[in-house]
Amino acid sequence: RVRHLSLANSHDVGPRSAEAFSRAHRLMPGGVNSPARAFGAVGGTPLFIERAEGPYLFDIDGRRFIDYIGSWGPMILGHAHPEVIEAITKAAQRGTSYGAPTEAESRLAEQIIEAVPSVEKVRLVNSGTEATMSAIRVARGATGRDKIIKFSGNYHGHVDSLLVAAGSAAATLGVPDSPGVTKGAGKDTIVLRYNDVAGVKAAFAKHPGEIAAVILEPVVGNMGCVAGSPEFLQTLRDETTRDGSILIFDEVMTGFRLAFGGAQERFGVTPDMTTLGKIVGGGMPLGAYGGRADIMDQVLPAGKVFQAGTLSGNPVAVAAGSKTLEILRNDPPYEYLENLGIRLAQGLDQAAFDAGIDYQVQAVGSMMTLFFNTDPVNEWADADQSDREAFGRYFWGLISKGVYMPCSQFEALFFGRTHTEAMIDETIDAAKSVLASFA
Ligand code: PLP
Repeated sequence: RVRHLSLANSHDVGPRSAEAFSRAHRLMPGGVNSPARAFGAVGGTPLFIERAEGPYLFDIDGRRFIDYIGSWGPMILGHAHPEVIEAITKAAQRGTSYGAPTEAESRLAEQIIEAVPSVEKVRLVNSGTEATMSAIRVARGATGRDKIIKFSGNYHGHVDSLLVAAGSAAATLGVPDSPGVTKGAGKDTIVLRYNDVAGVKAAFAKHPGEIAAVILEPVVGNMGCVAGSPEFLQTLRDETTRDGSILIFDEVMTGFRLAFGGAQERFGVTPDMTTLGKIVGGGMPLGAYGGRADIMDQVLPAGKVFQAGTLSGNPVAVAAGSKTLEILRNDPPYEYLENLGIRLAQGLDQAAFDAGIDYQVQAVGSMMTLFFNTDPVNEWADADQSDREAFGRYFWGLISKGVYMPCSQFEALFFGRTHTEAMIDETIDAAKSVLASFA
């Protein structure tokens, strides 16, 4: 059933995917439902997926790939985990949506509150975008202030006020500011450089008592993998506390990935609010935002800040998320993932070094990027210096060897608990031979 085509073509796409893409193109903008999937950044045709299992993706041409995107983060337990699938199936058999409260929602809320240090109360939503959009509204409502600070290269979903100097597909496609976002929507957004301690202090000095919130990815995945320095994170904590503004960690990617309690547990810096997505939904559409009880009690109907959702707390999504968190808590994969991460980082480092190319390997736990860049990447201006064309050749080279990396220099790779040391070694060998061909 599994077939490996070895095409000489650098854009190694099977005939069925090519056909499927041309059909999709006639039906959906760019042929996709989320822009990065179109493979625009690596100049090609996307692989259409038939199914996924454990660490593998299978395309409709019958090829198998070791998966390093994990649905862009959620699949930390591997695809189609039997217990998660069972939980989803059982929930679906009881009906797929009620529009009325369930006990299962309280169970998931308890699990989140127990895991994530900053979260005393939580609200479930349908995506990471909804989580950040709502958190910003609540922070503004709770403080009575308008301005927010975000950092260039950080992506928080397609929220108008945050779609300014955003990473992810926005960076990949070179459209950091989207048409359709009004000047008004971005007017109260102050964009600063990531890891720039002096810039943060200057902004608070310039706008005392005016900043509702600072939102950031504590480890950025959306300009490639870039960690917030300890000094940067501590400065944000100190400045927001002093000024009475709200510190929001966007842990949509890092939550339940860099530790069970997310980056905030890993780094010991506790924000006032946290946004979650991806893993918290176990591969179903679910996000969450939470934080200090006094802030969260501003949300309707406890308070006056409006936020609602027909499918929020959806029983099938809640079942997937709850089972995923239960497994992560009872049998934590984090040490295992840490060791795999070190193995992969060292292997990619050696492969790139041997090939004599300019590179940086940046990794935190099970998030990682091989930057085609001479200098360390600490912020967007650094990431932007990366050689996108070289990344494209690396990407397609790996595809031809059965390894599916993120299709952009500006997306971190992820792996999960079903990846093995042997698969990591196979990936390193593939990277070695691809990079060697660059010389
Ligand atoms: N925040 C971060 C850090 C993300 O990485 C993403 C998505 O990649 C989002 C928010 C938006 O989440 P969603 O795509 O579920 O709307």
